[in-house]
Amino acid sequence: MHSAGLAMLCFAGGVFAWSFLEYALHNWVGHVANGRNHFSREHLTHHSTPGYFTPTAHKVLAATVVGGGALVLVAWVTHWWIGAGFATGLVAAYTGYELLHYRIHVSAPRTRYTRWAARHHFSHHFACPGKNHGVTSPLWDHVFGTHHPHSKLTVPQRYAMPWLLEPNTGTVVAEFEDHYQLRP
Ligand SMILES: [Zn+2]
Ligand SMILES: [Zn+2]
Repeated sequence: MHSAGLAMLCFAGGVFAWSFLEYALHNWVGHVANGRNHFSREHLTHHSTPGYFTPTAHKVLAATVVGGGALVLVAWVTHWWIGAGFATGLVAAYTGYELLHYRIHVSAPRTRYTRWAARHHFSHHFACPGKNHGVTSPLWDHVFGTHHPHSKLTVPQRYAMPWLLEPNTGTVVAEFEDHYQLRP
């Protein structure tokens, strides 16, 4: 295969690997560990404190270590083209995940995909923390039987995302009324 095609295939492999890591970190390392590691404690704080996100410097450090490790390891056992493509796909997909997760928390979903991602993720936050661990895709939730279908979601008022509330009245913004309601 042409080396550019091979690099693209490896990039796709890195993206796919991230989707599994996203699920595995969130479900097993985050929730199942229940505070017994640093990542888990950070993640449970994200659940209990509206608007808390792990500091970006920690994330950049983790991405550098894991991405660099993947690059060296895969390049060492295969070829540097393959390692570079894989590690780039892994880190790009991780960055996309971080941006999506932050975005659905802080600003109103405007596309079909972000509306889906918001309903999927906030079902995890407010209805069933043991389900819907995927953020960018529902793939691994289906594989591991943790997919929770999206019904009308009840959000506790004090945890409500800023974009869900009318600034003057504190009620749900009309365009989101079909999918979200508030619990005082
Ligand atoms: Zn979240
Ligand atoms: Zn969670």
